[in-house]
Amino acid sequence: MPENALVTGGSGGIGEALCLRLAGEGYRVFVCYSSSREKAEKTAGEIGGEALRLDVTDPLSVEAAVEKVGFCKLLVNNAGISEIGLFDMVSAEKSRRIIDVNLTGAMNCTRAFLPEMIRRKKGCIINISSMWGQTGASCEVDYSASKAGLIGFTKALAKETAPSGIRVNCVSPGFIMTEMNSRFSEEDLELIRQDIPLGIFGEPRHVADAVAFLASGQAEYITGQILAVNGGMVI
Ligand code: NAP
Repeated sequence: MPENALVTGGSGGIGEALCLRLAGEGYRVFVCYSSSREKAEKTAGEIGGEALRLDVTDPLSVEAAVEKVGFCKLLVNNAGISEIGLFDMVSAEKSRRIIDVNLTGAMNCTRAFLPEMIRRKKGCIINISSMWGQTGASCEVDYSASKAGLIGFTKALAKETAPSGIRVNCVSPGFIMTEMNSRFSEEDLELIRQDIPLGIFGEPRHVADAVAFLASGQAEYITGQILAVNGGMVI
């Protein structure tokens, strides 16, 4: 019987690559979406997985996902939103939303799936942070704070759950070509590219490779770590 893996934000650019890769590793994958149902269903169809509506900010939606999935061997907290603007120009409501989705959402899902992992003494949790959570980005202050929070969450939870045989790690992507970055102009993109030591933008599959590694037996002695996938942009 394949083990269950659940990817929040499976309908997004990185999420799709995660789902494809994890299916290739033999997992039964739950491709979660909030609004992009068709995209999730298409990905699920390709991999023999299941599309599942999961709004990470909604306790009822999270509860329904746990009922549907049951034991989840691998939880990837990948759902996220971003906003560009000067800190004092971002509304308090928008700021709260960013923290709600990116940080509290990951905590909501983890809190819901963790008890069964603890009961079985196995499981793996991977949080998708960002290089901006490590170093901070001007004009993405709320986003950076939410992603820094995920790093603290990863480290603390890793210590708490290690005695139960559960590993918690974090992947911290750099600039990955997805819808999230579609707002940048050609000129902006070129300036950003020049700041990447490896000289190319990341692709979703680069993040998927890191997640697959951390979920695998090759990483059985790794917990509480932040694996940067950024072409050397933040070292
Ligand atoms: P994306 O293509 O915009 O996808 C975002 C995903 O988050 C979508 O699947 C979206 O679902 C989901 N989502 C949004 N609000 C949600 C909610 N309330 N509940 C559940 N899911 C929700 O972005 P991406 O580039 O793949 O990013 C994936 C993750 O990587 C994010 O956490 C992001 O911060 C992180 N990251 C991205 C980059 C980058 O350069 N792209 C760099 C560093 C970190 P629906 O479309 O179904 O609403």
